[in-house]
Amino acid sequence: VVDNPFLSFVDFVESDRLYDGLVQKKTTVINELQSLRDLINQEEEKVNRLRKQVHALKKSVDAEDLEVRALRSQEREKQIKLALVTVPKEYLSLQHELELLSQKIEKCEDQLLAHWQELEDKQHLLQQAVEESAHEQKRIGVAVVEKEQLLAQVQMSMEEVSHQKKLKEEHMVPEWRETYAAMKERVPNPAVFVIEGACSACFYPVSAKDLALLRRHVIVQCKDCYRLLYSV
Ligand SMILES: [Zn+2]
Repeated sequence: VVDNPFLSFVDFVESDRLYDGLVQKKTTVINELQSLRDLINQEEEKVNRLRKQVHALKKSVDAEDLEVRALRSQEREKQIKLALVTVPKEYLSLQHELELLSQKIEKCEDQLLAHWQELEDKQHLLQQAVEESAHEQKRIGVAVVEKEQLLAQVQMSMEEVSHQKKLKEEHMVPEWRETYAAMKERVPNPAVFVIEGACSACFYPVSAKDLALLRRHVIVQCKDCYRLLYSV
């Protein structure tokens, strides 16, 4: 904290800027953390989707397997019957039924085989996805820890700067402090440098009289945007 009113004003403005920068940084880090957590969720969802597909395939394979077994036992029953039949008409009819049944079994078995293959492929994909996802989640987890550490640092800096800012604010000329606070409600940068004889926020030219005051380190207000102007 400095005793010169102009320097304590500049000091405060710089602290305030630093604090605003930290607030922005905090928001950015929080958003980045959220994105990383979303990524972890996406990884989990990806694996869960595959798990559900494998589960559904396994269910249909089991059902088809059961159906093939049932058809095979029907076939055996009919073959026994066929061996015992003596009436030619019944024999022909049974033979026809057996033929149809055999076609049906073949079709079911083909389907079962195809689904078995599909299930095996999916299971392989799932296993790969589980490994990849674990690897990816570990990588993201490291990034999350880093961001959390950064966030803690930013929060600590914020507390420190906030404390300094309050001390500096108390040392300000009350009139400047009030003008600054009032402007701050409207614009994020209530105090700006004069650059090449103009307000560096709105570029309105500063009068010769004000420029002379600025050279003596007096704070003046921009005639157009009303920001506090200063020059070092
Ligand atoms: Zn201006």
